[in-house]
Amino acid sequence: MSAELVAVTKIYPGGVEALRGVDLRIEEGEAVAVVGPSGSGKSTLLHLLGILDRPTSGIVRVAGHDVGRLTDRRQAKLRAHTIGFVFQQFHLTPGVSALDNVADGLLYTGTPPRERRRRAADALERVGLGHRAHHRPHELSGGEKQRVAVARAVAGEPGIVLADEPTGNLDSASGAEVLRALIGVATTLVIITHDPDIAAALPRRIRMRDGRIVKEEA
Ligand code: ADP
Repeated sequence: MSAELVAVTKIYPGGVEALRGVDLRIEEGEAVAVVGPSGSGKSTLLHLLGILDRPTSGIVRVAGHDVGRLTDRRQAKLRAHTIGFVFQQFHLTPGVSALDNVADGLLYTGTPPRERRRRAADALERVGLGHRAHHRPHELSGGEKQRVAVARAVAGEPGIVLADEPTGNLDSASGAEVLRALIGVATTLVIITHDPDIAAALPRRIRMRDGRIVKEEA
């Protein structure tokens, strides 16, 4: 699934210009790293691509839809059906099995319970955690928890996965496993990272500074 920003600016209340005229097109099947110093606008860019926030001006297009023209309800529906998110914090529910953590991620898609659990089991297999499905978060390592979060992000077969520092809390070996899982299961992938090894492992890199894309590498 493709996603696109056209001449996008974002000014937060208080006047911070987080994005200043950003043009970016991500094609179906791409895996893209977004790098740059803290405060350069990386998370803002990801939030706009993920329909978690609106631009101040410019166009955000996700799966061919001009997001700004959709009602809140249709935006939420588009988000639920087309976008998977992974954050630095794993956001797993304590005391709930890996399987149910993943299955619960499908609640908003209206999938019936049995089908949710079937898809969750399948997603856990795909990130190499089929054997951990009945473990609860406190019984899993950091890297395993993040792979559960990856399974949750992809269980609904989203067209794009957006990951904000997904390896930021992990040692490099666990981080590499999480990256492998993400690349293996996401059809289209955008990862914010501070880790040069993670960035180097992706075929396309975008560098941001002061709200602008200052460099593209492929
Ligand atoms: P990065 O992810 O590269 O660290 P961000 O997109 O988080 O950058 O932030 C870009 C700029 O916007 C920063 O100056 C930050 O302080 C500001 N900013 C981010 N979110 C908000 C917000 N909700 N309200 C006000 N300012 C914000």
